Amino acid sequence: MLWSGWGDPAKAAALPEPLRELLRDMLGVRAPQTPAASFGEVRLAPVALSPLVLAELRAVVGDGHVRSDDDARIRHTRGKSTPDLMRMRAGDGSDAPDAVVLPGSHAEVTELLRLCAAHRVAVVPFGGGTSVVGGLVATRRGFAGVVALDLARLNRLISVDAESMTAEMEPGLRTPQAEQLLATRGLTLGHFPQSYEYATLGGFAAARSSGQASAGYGRFDDMVVGMTVATSRGTLDLGRAPKSAAGPDLRQVILGSEGAFGVITSLRLRIRRAPTRRIYEGWRFASFAAGSAALRRLAQEGPVPTVLRLSDETETMIGLARPGELGGLAADAGCLAIAGYEGSEEVTALRERAAAVLSESGGVHLGTGPGESWAHGRYSAPYLRDSLLAAGATVETLETAGFWSNLPRLYDAVRLSLRASLGSPLVMCHISHVYGTGASLYFTVVTAQSGDPLTQWEAAKRSAGEAIVRAGGTISHHHGVGRDHREAYTAEIGELGVEILRGIKDRLDPRGILNPGVLIAEGR
Ligand SMILES: Cc1cc2nc3c(=O)[nH]c(=O)nc-3n(C[C@H](O)[C@H](O)[C@H](O)COP(=O)(O)OP(=O)(O)OC[C@H]3O[C@@H](n4cnc5c(N)ncnc54)[C@H](O)[C@@H]3O)c2cc1C
Repeated sequence: MLWSGWGDPAKAAALPEPLRELLRDMLGVRAPQTPAASFGEVRLAPVALSPLVLAELRAVVGDGHVRSDDDARIRHTRGKSTPDLMRMRAGDGSDAPDAVVLPGSHAEVTELLRLCAAHRVAVVPFGGGTSVVGGLVATRRGFAGVVALDLARLNRLISVDAESMTAEMEPGLRTPQAEQLLATRGLTLGHFPQSYEYATLGGFAAARSSGQASAGYGRFDDMVVGMTVATSRGTLDLGRAPKSAAGPDLRQVILGSEGAFGVITSLRLRIRRAPTRRIYEGWRFASFAAGSAALRRLAQEGPVPTVLRLSDETETMIGLARPGELGGLAADAGCLAIAGYEGSEEVTALRERAAAVLSESGGVHLGTGPGESWAHGRYSAPYLRDSLLAAGATVETLETAGFWSNLPRLYDAVRLSLRASLGSPLVMCHISHVYGTGASLYFTVVTAQSGDPLTQWEAAKRSAGEAIVRAGGTISHHHGVGRDHREAYTAEIGELGVEILRGIKDRLDPRGILNPGVLIAEGR
């Protein structure tokens, strides 16, 4: 993973010249004056942990599994939001942990938590490091240091229960590894977020992730049937039946807790038979409203495809353009929906029934071309972000969800807010996940960088968050809260809601060492 950007450096995407011209002409994008910092130029504070604490950490996990070298510290600094990348590009390593610790078992995690609590060292559970909400930055104030607890060594498929269709897996497994292990038995998890290549199972559970095929396979929190959690007070073993009436479901307390309550050390996950057939196709709708109505009908009356998403007019126009054809964009491209079907024989019937609903709702079938093209490029967009940043454009995404009846209001509120903050940015949106009662909206924003692009974006993001709260949406459908959404989350659940979370944290993490400042404000 690139330390100041996204993904495999070999897959870096160059900015096509026509796109560069379009950005200049349409948004006034100009190359930034200051070049990005090199790895050696990143400014790091000296390691704050004492040699004694480092020695005690080593005694738990072994010498090679505690690292405090610059390379390890820089690669565990923050996550992968655009502000995170901007800070790294500016050489700002101020949020780097003092050490990276790699436990190899649940027992080691428990012992590390005990030790860190005793020495008052903050602990940041670290999965794939792909958080886009500031979920990997701990408050230092009041702590003897900060440790990144990298779960990469907890990467086993422990067991498969083929009768119940569940698999017990460790949290450090990245999605491709997890899928490979399951594929040897003809199984799949069916979780395909855009961060697929790097994000981990533990991170998905901790941040309530949702994948691109969630219409069919469900969100990640729907897949979790059980889990083991190491806390400063001992172990929680949760989930002994698919559903239960035995009181509140404590699994839900850990899902979305973003490392602030405990460390997930194993997950029991619902699995599916790996599909033998996959078909993705495109549909055109006259407008976003018409397309939304069609998706709502499918979500409410069925049948629901495995993948279902709808781009608004702007996203359709930009997305349909090939780089060489950018000058000749059709303004009346309408709105593109992608419907995908994964399964076996049942795919044909499912597709026919869904197609009937989509055409009755005004959709025009575009064949498999747009669907294949979407499937081919589904993980490539983040690679373009690095080139856009280098070219002087800020590009970032934000997302929300709401009930169907409120979705148009939410859509307008976010767009208006971004325009008010940024002048004339390019704002694209798609419905990324659908439910019977509502859907999520996923926005991509591109704007020319000001002299201080970080402050410019943070102000715009804050206003967009306030607009979301005012318009009755949730501050996040699948990215989580982290530090960046904390205020909006407080507005969403109220002070009493925050008090409940604080009470839970105080019980599970009395010294407040777990991810201080993430999810809820630290201290009292
Ligand atoms: C380019 C890009 C595309 C993305 N696309 C999607 C998408 O399509 N869908 C989506 O849902 N999200 C997406 N995300 C966001 C991100 O990938 C998710 O939030 C993901 O769940 C994070 O997983 P991770 O393993 O990287 O966790 P990390 O980023 O390492 O951690 C996320 C949070 O969980 C905590 N944590 C991690 N592991 C554990 C554990 N074992 N126990 C307790 N706490 C833990 C961390 O402390 C942190 O607060 C995207 C991010 C990027 C950069």
